[in-house]
Amino acid sequence: MFVRGVPVTFENYRALVMENRVGDLHNDPGDWFIHCVLKYAGEAGEFPEHVGKAQRDDGWRVRYGPKAFTPERREKLLSEIGDELWYVVALLEEMDSTLEEVMAINMEKMLGRRDRGTLNGSGDDR
Ligand SMILES: [Mg+2]
Repeated sequence: MFVRGVPVTFENYRALVMENRVGDLHNDPGDWFIHCVLKYAGEAGEFPEHVGKAQRDDGWRVRYGPKAFTPERREKLLSEIGDELWYVVALLEEMDSTLEEVMAINMEKMLGRRDRGTLNGSGDDR
């Protein structure tokens, strides 16, 4: 997949995130990190906001499932996930990490839970 001739890869996406830091907050690592945390939290609320709008404005119902969103709503929902991803990648950059490292950590956790039969339940350390 390409966007404007640029291959869609994690490295190209990461580079774009870094090139598009705005203002001067990124000159202070602490302020930039907190800015990204706050923006990530805000963006995380916009996805469910659009699900609520789908119920209210589009006639979508839970029983229809996520494949029944209108094409316009689906595009908005994916856009909001992209906004979250933007800040996830920014946070990972500030923490000297990558999506691959996070996926590896999470895969280990989930495979361990599967092995122990604890996929259901609660608590981080099950
Ligand atoms: Mg957004």
